[in-house]
Amino acid sequence: MCHIIRCLHIKPGFCDCVLNDVQKVTHHKQSFAKFSKILYIFGFYYKIPAEIKILEGWSFYMIYREDKVSGNKLSTLGLGCMRFPFDKKETERMILAAIEGGVNFFDTAYIYPNSEATLGEILAKNNKRKDIYIATKLPLPMCKSASDFDKFFNEQLRRLHTDYIDYYFIHNISDCADWEKLQKLGIEQWVAEKKKTGQIRHIGFSYHGVCDEFIRLLDAYAWEFCMIQYNYYDENYQAGKKGLQAAAEKGMAVIIMEPLLGGTLATGLPKQAVDVFVKANPDLAPADWALWWLWNQSEVTVVLSGMSSTQILENNLRSVKNFRPLSDTELSVYTDVIDVFRKSYKINCTGCNYCLPCPKMINIPACFSAYNMSYIKGYVKGMALHVTSTAGATSNPKSPRLCNQCGKCEKQCPQKLPIRNDLKKVAGRFEHLPMRMAIAILRRIMMR
Ligand code: SF4
Ligand code: SF4
Repeated sequence: MCHIIRCLHIKPGFCDCVLNDVQKVTHHKQSFAKFSKILYIFGFYYKIPAEIKILEGWSFYMIYREDKVSGNKLSTLGLGCMRFPFDKKETERMILAAIEGGVNFFDTAYIYPNSEATLGEILAKNNKRKDIYIATKLPLPMCKSASDFDKFFNEQLRRLHTDYIDYYFIHNISDCADWEKLQKLGIEQWVAEKKKTGQIRHIGFSYHGVCDEFIRLLDAYAWEFCMIQYNYYDENYQAGKKGLQAAAEKGMAVIIMEPLLGGTLATGLPKQAVDVFVKANPDLAPADWALWWLWNQSEVTVVLSGMSSTQILENNLRSVKNFRPLSDTELSVYTDVIDVFRKSYKINCTGCNYCLPCPKMINIPACFSAYNMSYIKGYVKGMALHVTSTAGATSNPKSPRLCNQCGKCEKQCPQKLPIRNDLKKVAGRFEHLPMRMAIAILRRIMMR
């Protein structure tokens, strides 16, 4: 009974039924679904919280997990704002549908092109600022002096049409030296002042380095939350499972980025890997398997998905709705999928675009995507993608062979990929002499 009563207060900030014990989830959902049906049948539709009404009617709702430091109840699905749709109306539709669906954690960054401004404008226009938690990030590599902190922060407030940030990240720390550099510039005093005035509510960092450094970094400051890359493809990569557990033990909220490895775990799996999942449970899509693996771990607070359409949002909301704890048999399925996947996935690029722009205008992530695709879905599909992404059939192609080895991209890559070397592999696979001749002929035909 208590579950039913608590579910009536599922709105962020009111619900005291925080699901940090995954075993409670199934019971919680069943109880609420039954109660909602009774309300619906007896005409009390309006009494059902908005979060559960949209997209699939009255039965839709969100799971919240507690940020133990602040007491905030964060939606376990967060909206990553790096890949907004091109169409602003579609972006607005998606953001409003996400809020209606109970998503209350929105993650953007200073360096995401036009993301803060778009999010801020839509929230202000629809008067939704107070309904959600905004997370954004200080661009660490661009901070050369103490005055830069205020410069970027004030611009972020302006772009976001707000006078406070709920979750402020130091963006993309890769080791303790990065943090020490900021300490020397006076970041700790600056954050203390911002917290005193209420302009920054909570402070954390996003991380792309090795696990040992991550654990040292946890002790280097009174962090309240952190963001790590984590997915089933490699649970020991970067901070990994050990880092996740260390942060959770400290009581920090842990936000997960790249849960789908740049979409690869949703739509880029080799057919044999998809077959393994389908055989285990034909009702779950590969993206569900990836998200459920994360939600199955109580140390995970929010899983960010970089959503680029309302359709993707709907799929993700459906995934939350259907989530239940995984059985031991289901957990063993991941091992088989990883085995198949490892044999076909060659370059671990997540498509984050941090390496861009390249001075030679090479679309680095697209080159790697085409390369991986050629092993996963076949050479012809990979080649077609390569020709498109390098504008190979135009008079001004952006071939990986144009790379002048300047190394700028590698300094920005959170995955520490040997980009220059990997581009040589791409060129070797797609731009050997017979293929260059074929593309030259194609180009002539198209230029006529
Ligand atoms: S090393 Fe090559 S790919 Fe990287 S930024 Fe320089 S020119 Fe571009
Ligand atoms: S090469 Fe590195 S920085 Fe560039 S998109 Fe891939 S993972 Fe991101």
